[in-house]
Order: sequence, then C-alpha cells, then structure tokens
Amino acid sequence: KAKHPGEPEFHQAVMEVAESLALLFEKHPEYRTAKILERIIEPERVIIFRVPWVDDQGEININIGYRVEMNSAIGPYKGGLRFHPSVNLGILKFLAFEQVFKNSLTTLPMGGGKGGSDFDPKGKSDLKIMRFCQAFMSELFRHIGPNTDVPAGDIGVGGREIGYLFGQYKKLRNEFSGVLTGKGLNWGGSLIRPEATGYGAVYFASEMLATKGKTLEGKVCLVSGSGNVAQYTCEKLIELGAKPVTLSDSNGYIYDEEGIDREKLKFVMEMKNVRRGRIKEYTDKYKHAVYTPTDPNLDYNPLWNHKADCAFPSATQNEINGKDAQNLVKNGVFCVSEGANMPTTPDGVNIFLDNGILYGPGKAANAGGVAVSGLEMAQNSMRYSWTREEVDNRLKLIMKTIHRTCYDIAERFGTPGNYVNGANIGGFLKVADAMIDQGVV
Ligand code: NDP
Repeated sequence: KAKHPGEPEFHQAVMEVAESLALLFEKHPEYRTAKILERIIEPERVIIFRVPWVDDQGEININIGYRVEMNSAIGPYKGGLRFHPSVNLGILKFLAFEQVFKNSLTTLPMGGGKGGSDFDPKGKSDLKIMRFCQAFMSELFRHIGPNTDVPAGDIGVGGREIGYLFGQYKKLRNEFSGVLTGKGLNWGGSLIRPEATGYGAVYFASEMLATKGKTLEGKVCLVSGSGNVAQYTCEKLIELGAKPVTLSDSNGYIYDEEGIDREKLKFVMEMKNVRRGRIKEYTDKYKHAVYTPTDPNLDYNPLWNHKADCAFPSATQNEINGKDAQNLVKNGVFCVSEGANMPTTPDGVNIFLDNGILYGPGKAANAGGVAVSGLEMAQNSMRYSWTREEVDNRLKLIMKTIHRTCYDIAERFGTPGNYVNGANIGGFLKVADAMIDQGVV
C-alpha cells in the first residue's frame, strides 16, 4: 500500500487475489520464490498524457489520458478504454490487474491492460465526442499497435467512440490494422462482439446453475446498468426464458414486475444507444413500471432489495456492498454472475460465499467480451470473418471452459464451489509459468 498510495480499488483487487494465491503458494512455494506476485502487481508500463481539445463552441478543454500496460507475458496488452469522470490511475490499475487474470482464463494469447480518461461523454454532441477521441488518439497512437497493445471499449466507450479512435489511428499511422477491437462490422469488427460480455455472463450463470441441476428458465433476474453489458445480458436472459425485472443508470433504476420482454428491451436499446436517453424514460412509456431515483443518503441500493432468483450486476465497481449482499440473500437470490468488473465489495463477496451462493466473479463471468475481442484479432490477422453462429459457438465454448477451470481448481485447492479462488489461481498459473519461462525481465 505504501508503494501505491491512494488507490483503494487497486488494493482491493490485489488483496482478493493474494488471499486466493496463499492456497497455491502453500502447495507450490516455487511461485513465491520467483516473486511472481510482487512482479505481477507492478504495471510493466504506465502512460499518462495531456488531452487538450477544442469543443464546438471554440472552448479549450483539458482531460487526462491513461494507458496502463500491465502484463505482456502471454500476449499483447489487451483491455478496454473507459471514459468516465471517476477515472483515475488507481481505478485503471485495478481494471488492468483484473484483466491479466481474465485474459489468461479465456485460453487466448492476450496480455492485460486498461486505459481511458476522466472525460465525461454524457450529454455531449457527436462532434464533441469526435474531437475528444481524435485528441486522445493523437497521443495514444504511438504506444499501441496490433502486436503491442490492442484497446477496446468499456464504460463510455462503445461503437461510436471506437470508430472515431480507429479513424484517427489509421490517419496517423497510414495503416489499416486490428489495433482496436469492437470495430464496426464493415471495417474489421466481429459479429457478436457487442453482445459478448452480456451473453457470456449469462452463459456463465447457466454453467453454475447446471452444477445444481438448474436452468435459467423462469428465473426472476435483477440486472443493474443499462449500457452495453446490461442490454445484452437482458437479451440473452429473455432468450433463455428468464425474466429480467430491473435496469438502472447513475440517476436511478426501474423495476418492472411483469418483466422486461423483447419489445421493452428494443425500446431501451433505441433510447440508450440512439437517443442517448436516461433509464427514467422507461416509465414514461411503460406506466406500470416503478422508477426510483438514486438516494445518496442510503447505505444500500434498493435495486438489490427485490424478490428474485439471480442477479447480474452490470454497471460499475463496488455497486453491491455488504448490506446489498445481505438483501439479495434475504430475497432468495441464489446465483450472482458479474457482468461488471469488481461490482461486489469484499464483505459482500464473503456474504455470498458464506451463504453458498453460486457466485461468478467478474474476471471469470464477464470474460466473454475480451474473448470475442481475441476472436476479432484472430479474424483480422486472417483477413477473414466468421459467421454469427461460429463466433457464438466459440464464445459458449470459452465460457464453458472458463467455468470448468474455475470449478476444478476451486475443488483441487480444497474450496469446492469457490469460483473466486478458482478464477484467481486459474488465471494466475498460465501467466506465472510464462513469466518464469521468460526470465526476470
Ligand atoms: P456502458 O457505458 O455501456 O454502461 C455503463 C452503465 O453503468 C450505464 O448504465 C451507466 O449509467 C452505469 N454506470 C456507470 N458508472 C456508474 C456509476 N459510477 N454509478 C452508477 N451507475 C454507473 O458500459 P459497459 O456496459 O460496457 O460496462 C459496464 C461494466 O461492465 C463495467 O464495470 C465494465 O468495466 C464491465 N465490462 C464491460 C465489458 C465490455 O465489453 N463492454 C467487458 C467486461 C466488463 P450512466 O449512463 O448514468 O453513467
């Protein structure tokens, strides 16, 4: 903590992994001797840069840009870009650290990284977004490349932003390459990439439920967020016969007891992705649904306090605290699959584990997004595109494999059903072995 002051999210992510790895080090002290944990927590490189840009009113704006290149032992740095006012170095280090383990679990050759800016895209015109993206890429381009570092989207960075970023990279480098993933379909993108994180989180939940002989059919599901991950989580849940009943944004959440069906989800997607509206508008159209604004004075989130079977946190870090976890358990939730990164606080995680909840931590459950990004990179290298079905089948298989790895490792280390230990040890082993093979560099 002394070496990385003022970075609570990064400390939280490292502590959780370190606790799991204690089990591994007992059986395999060679990893301790090689000081892999001490090495793996230090980013290989951090780039911080000024992003000055002029908006459409002629005003000069200054943001901070970051890229944390965490680990390249098993492949080029890979991980999203986040544009959100809460972005700082500690948040990006936690995300980059998690990404190393997640990418390793996918079985694809990708190292870990993360980046972004404190730029707030909310409510900004397309022109402002384009100008910012171009200014951001004007510095980032010299640090990335299809064999070096391949960024993607995250909070505040979707298809539109990736387009503007790619256009600027291509202009500066005079080369058309797979330097970013999440690209548009007609310029190098992969089918299923927009859907992949949400679909993957649902596939992971299905795998966890199958270990108890259950399916998602008829299950009532709480979903938070209303962005990319939340939308495609709902889509897959509906397809599998489950009933999502909530969605949210930072201003509040909607509860629709009748369930969010295909038609309602279509309305949400149009409202969020085309009109860039707020989730409150759902209740303008569907009057029976209830909108609850965010109350900063509450020490819990009422979204997690409804009768349900499963929960899919898909907004942001630390959105489920100890009290929320208790409420979920009390309301009958027995399966939690994390679409967001580290959405549950450590005391929340302990409550899930102590109550025998099927709990899929983000670095395993939301790995579908980066897995399909890896498939996008493979297609770009081959200059070829797979069909929707091919990509979806590969995604399903990867999620199944990740689940199996976590499940088996948890059992092997004496903590059956503990997917946290399974994901942390499972993700660590491949990277650690590669680091040992490659010497002290
Ligand atoms: P989007 O920007 O598409 O959506 C984010 C959603 O979460 C919005 O509804 C947003 O509301 C809400 N949200 C964001 N920050 C906060 C906050 N501080 N408090 C309350 N609500 C908030 O992002 P994604 O759907 O892509 O990402 C969601 C989560 O999934 C993140 O944790 C991300 O790291 C993770 N993830 C994403 C992947 C991807 O492929 N996109 C891959 C793996 C993980 P508002 O509009 O009000 O800000």
